[in-house]
Amino acid sequence: MYPDVSMYIDGAWCKSAGGKSDPILNPATGESIGTVPIANRADLDRALAAAEKGFKAWRNVSTFERYKLMRKAAEILRTRVAEIGETMTLEQGKPLAEAKAEPASAADVIDWFAEEGRRTYGSLIPARFDNVTQTTIREPIGPVAAFTPWNFPINQAVRKISGAVATGCSIVIKGPENTPGSCAALVRAFADAGLPPGVINLVFGVPAEISEYLIPHPIIRKVSFTGSTAVGKHLASLAGLHMKPVTMELGGHSPAIVCPDADIDLAVKLLAGAKFRNAGQICTNPSRFLIHESIYNSFVEKFTATAKAMKVGDGMDPETRMGPLAHARRIESMEALVSDAVKRGGKIKTGGKRIGNKGFFFEPTVLTDVPLDARLMNEEPFGPLAPMMSYKDLDSALAEANRLRYGLAAYAFTNSSKTAAAVAAGFESGMVTINHHGLGLPEVPFGGVKDSGYGTEGGAAALEAYLVTKFVTHAKI
Ligand code: NAD
Repeated sequence: MYPDVSMYIDGAWCKSAGGKSDPILNPATGESIGTVPIANRADLDRALAAAEKGFKAWRNVSTFERYKLMRKAAEILRTRVAEIGETMTLEQGKPLAEAKAEPASAADVIDWFAEEGRRTYGSLIPARFDNVTQTTIREPIGPVAAFTPWNFPINQAVRKISGAVATGCSIVIKGPENTPGSCAALVRAFADAGLPPGVINLVFGVPAEISEYLIPHPIIRKVSFTGSTAVGKHLASLAGLHMKPVTMELGGHSPAIVCPDADIDLAVKLLAGAKFRNAGQICTNPSRFLIHESIYNSFVEKFTATAKAMKVGDGMDPETRMGPLAHARRIESMEALVSDAVKRGGKIKTGGKRIGNKGFFFEPTVLTDVPLDARLMNEEPFGPLAPMMSYKDLDSALAEANRLRYGLAAYAFTNSSKTAAAVAAGFESGMVTINHHGLGLPEVPFGGVKDSGYGTEGGAAALEAYLVTKFVTHAKI
């Protein structure tokens, strides 16, 4: 069932020129299901040359033609949702329903960027003199180097690919090595829609080797990265050294404030859903639960019951609600964070352990009394750990919410519009969602502040990142 995975360079599917490959593991079993090619310098040089050629051709294709081709790619993707979903569950572990939803929502992202690409307007600026015309023109920035992770193998890549393709750029994308099949299926939809060679080039390999080579390379004009803050800081400084603009979608440690007047059942349902979706491996995942002291016990009991009832298993089983973690390193991280929390006085309400020794399963975990100096309260957990804290007043809850250097997403539950306005204003966060989970749609901003990065990958501003402004002043003589 798992596809043969190739790279895509200059309009052709290929293996590594050096013949090197790595195994791909099914995280539900720990067993190898295929191999991923590992690019060498020759592959990267070919991808760069193709991107340069692809850019020269694609920038001159009208936005209407680009739009039509993107819409076709979206339609192709929709017809392949079932098979791509299976590929994703096999390589990434998430439940099949979640995996199928990903190419379906990616098709909506492609449609939206295609539409928005038709609105990259310039302007006419009133001139000081009669015979002068002053205009601004929006032009594609050029070949893009993009780096995308394994937690959403398609949805992290589709925003970068769509932003580049809609604006007339080309792109070299380094996809996720442990979940390459579904990312390649996304690229295949564009290839099958008739995208000219060189516009999208997909490579896999040793992440640091590829980024260190592509980012400084003179062909590359823009860098976009999704991943951890530590790596993002390194890549942003490398890009800065070479004067390349960057979009950085980095980690988070999202606070969730539940106020005394909140609908507790709604808060438990939505926050547990957001917490354990994709086994907690989501950058916007709620990861510090701040519950008003008057409803703390009731919230914690209900949340713990929901966590206990969560069916964990192979994502291919239709009963499964939470799959395995994506790779063995995540299990080690969860074990280290839980043991540090417990050593410092934290108490486990449920979970806290790896499940079995086959595959990378970890229990949905709820903790209380975890002190603020525990690693869990400071480092992005990126897994199914939910630490609960109580608070007395909203100011202290907001102070705790804003204590960390992260600022990606923040959640609040309240029935008071006054409190909703106060938390919306008070959170230091790129995104705030109140009484529902409304993040990640193509037409709304998606991005963080502080150590969570800069730039947005949603909403009209997402296209700005792939455009430059040219000012032309013309005197008629
Ligand atoms: P990791 O830091 O090894 O890798 C995270 C991602 O960055 C991977 O896709 C990896 O290929 C890429 N990467 C790592 N070093 C790179 C380099 N030098 N150049 C280019 N790309 C590089 O961590 P991991 O164990 O795979 O994932 C866990 C951590 O990654 C989490 O703590 C989380 O912060 C982060 N992460 C964030 C997102 C997100 O959506 N923001 C997604 C996945 C992972």
